[in-house]
Amino acid sequence: MTDYDVLIVGGGPAGLSAALNLGRSLARVLVVDADRPRNAATLNSHGFLTRDGVPPFELRRIAREELAAYPNVEIRSRVRVGALTRTDAGFAAGIGRRDPSEQVTARSVLLATGLRETLPDVPDLRGFYGMSLFSCAACDAWELRGRSLALIGESADLADRARLVAHWTPQLTVFTNGSAAVSTAEEAELATAGVPVVRSPIVELTGERGRIAAVRTADGEERAIDGGFVRPEWEADLSFLDGMLPERDDDGHLVTDRSGRTSIRGLYAAGDVAAPGPQQLIVAAGAGARVAAVITHDAIGVATAH
Ligand SMILES: Cc1cc2nc3c(=O)[nH]c(=O)nc-3n(C[C@H](O)[C@H](O)[C@H](O)COP(=O)(O)OP(=O)(O)OC[C@H]3O[C@@H](n4cnc5c(N)ncnc54)[C@H](O)[C@@H]3O)c2cc1C
Repeated sequence: MTDYDVLIVGGGPAGLSAALNLGRSLARVLVVDADRPRNAATLNSHGFLTRDGVPPFELRRIAREELAAYPNVEIRSRVRVGALTRTDAGFAAGIGRRDPSEQVTARSVLLATGLRETLPDVPDLRGFYGMSLFSCAACDAWELRGRSLALIGESADLADRARLVAHWTPQLTVFTNGSAAVSTAEEAELATAGVPVVRSPIVELTGERGRIAAVRTADGEERAIDGGFVRPEWEADLSFLDGMLPERDDDGHLVTDRSGRTSIRGLYAAGDVAAPGPQQLIVAAGAGARVAAVITHDAIGVATAH
């Protein structure tokens, strides 16, 4: 006998959506959430049907309010899973605010821990991130459409992302911040599409109260912009998986089947931490709902069609 049927690690849209659907399926659920959502930097989140423009914390508040109707779902906030191990009956987790000394057991575990971001090494970038510089074009480009935009990044897919952002504006400048992110062939191709590439390192972003106004580079140039996008590096922090090595892809995302099962029996994953799709709230919530159905089917022994 375990304390819970399902332990959900992470209370973002993926974890909370799974909790709702598992709760409605009579499962005894524990959600453990460190409460550090990826989109905390932004004031409004977009593209979630019925909640377009909602502040990120409001979305979580509504979700938790709805979950309060289910006595079989327990949420522990600002609490972290510090260690997760396999047992004969399922899994054991050490949880706690600072010290993960409380032990809980569960038959199945859903990893919904999202991703950690590292922004390009540019002075003051944090001060603009989430307010006038964003990372997801599908989420935030509508508000910036037609304006003079920057794309700042140091990764090999920067030219691809430039093609994407250029869909929303004819005035885009790519800043590689001194890196070799864009090849000369890509630079030439972007130039024919009217997208200049600036290779000089960025020394300053200017603007006020989160509203960016210009990018200053080491070559002494200053370019006025109204907003833009950055390409962060993403990392799945799964250091708490004690001795368990579920399959991961080259970028560190958990590999699952299309139902959210990892390569370890009883261990599931949903949301941004699982193999890449669009990193969006509604996609994460949808993945949480889908994996919840699969966890229920697996527990009952129903051969699912998923
Ligand atoms: C600046 C910014 C703006 C964005 N804007 C939008 C937008 O407008 N629209 C949109 O659809 N998407 C937007 N996104 C993307 C969106 O935030 C993510 O796709 C979504 O949050 C993914 O949900 P998730 O449940 O997988 O992970 P998250 O929402 O990141 O939730 C994961 C949770 O797990 C917790 N956690 C991690 N490790 C542990 C642990 N060991 N123990 C306990 N808890 C843990 C974290 O603290 C966090 O609370 C934005 C992202 C950023 C960075």
